Amino acid sequence: MEILSNRIQNMAESETLAMTAKARELKAAGKDVISLSIGEPDFNTPDTVKEAAKKAIDDNFTHYPPVGGYADLKEAICEKFRRDNGLDYKPEQIVVSTGAKQSIYQLVQCLVNPGDEVIIPTPFWVSYKEIVRVAEGKCVYVQTQIENNFKVTAEQLEAAITPRTKLIMFSSPSNPTGMLYTKEELRAIADVVVRHDNLFVMADEIYEHINFVGRHESIAQFADVKERVITVNGVAKGFAMTGWRIGFIAAPTVIAKACQKLQGQVTSATCSIAQKATVRAMQMDPTTSADILNMRKVFQERRDMVYKLLCEIPGLKVCMPQGAFYFFPDVSSYYGKHFGDKTIANSTDMAFYLLNEANVATVMGSAFGDDRCIRLSYATSEDLLREALRRMKEALAKLK
Ligand code: GLU
Repeated sequence: MEILSNRIQNMAESETLAMTAKARELKAAGKDVISLSIGEPDFNTPDTVKEAAKKAIDDNFTHYPPVGGYADLKEAICEKFRRDNGLDYKPEQIVVSTGAKQSIYQLVQCLVNPGDEVIIPTPFWVSYKEIVRVAEGKCVYVQTQIENNFKVTAEQLEAAITPRTKLIMFSSPSNPTGMLYTKEELRAIADVVVRHDNLFVMADEIYEHINFVGRHESIAQFADVKERVITVNGVAKGFAMTGWRIGFIAAPTVIAKACQKLQGQVTSATCSIAQKATVRAMQMDPTTSADILNMRKVFQERRDMVYKLLCEIPGLKVCMPQGAFYFFPDVSSYYGKHFGDKTIANSTDMAFYLLNEANVATVMGSAFGDDRCIRLSYATSEDLLREALRRMKEALAKLK
């Protein structure tokens, strides 16, 4: 008998984390690697949030919290949804978990039966696919194109829906493309959803505060579809709190209760101290908070710089991101080219070529369902970004 279950043997490793681990290993071995692989703000957590965490320890918030989160945190999250998104939720509709990834995992476990279809507009964030596969759901990929800013249309969604479709999963601002859905586009998607009974939407809004074009739009704002929407958010990206591992959902009560039940068997609850820190983060108004506004400004400046530098590299197709901190350029014009005995056949070859030849870590587009592209995170300093892009340009020019 095999030691490991089929379930885990069939699961792919997270490529974002794997490429980051490789970059770390090479750095530890003395190589001058610049990592544009993981999506992690290079800012520190705001001081006010750190103070709240220190106080939580001093106040002895060191015991098991309630499974779905402390009452004051749930209240603070409800208030955040009212203030930032115009959405009304009750505390029992909120479940706080150990990162948005756990929130999504639990949600899929609670909604998807084996054989149920889950529509995933492609490119998608790397973990959606494996989370659905572990639940024995069937991923239905709907390919979007760079020419359409990588956005799925209502017509495409309608065409992909069958009587077995249970869930649609997408992120806006998008990881990996940085594109945002407008209110009109979300309305058109909502129109499709309401026409089909028992179809739900997982709206991943973790990059909400990193938006360069204006107001964040939630699909849950439309009353006729709100009961079918599970909004996922967290503090990792917008508040530079990746290590604190706090994510949450706002969901119809029956779904929130199910996720909470599962969480009770898995983690009991998420870290008490991180929860108290998150109460403070939720109180930060994104329209006035200097921490949030400054991070967004810096990301926008970097985006503009990287866009210019990417456009100077021959053969790339680049879409100007409107949010998050990623570029997802199409590098496929280099496929079939060689350097020494190395041929670049796909995005994995390209990511490894750039890692070995340019000492720049990226993530292969295949991890996000689009083998024509690679993903670059620009959540790092301007100097490092400039140098990384210089190295990439030089390495790509060697391909003949
Ligand atoms: N979400 C980030 C990324 O896409 C962090 C790593 C991960 O969890 O995938 O890079």
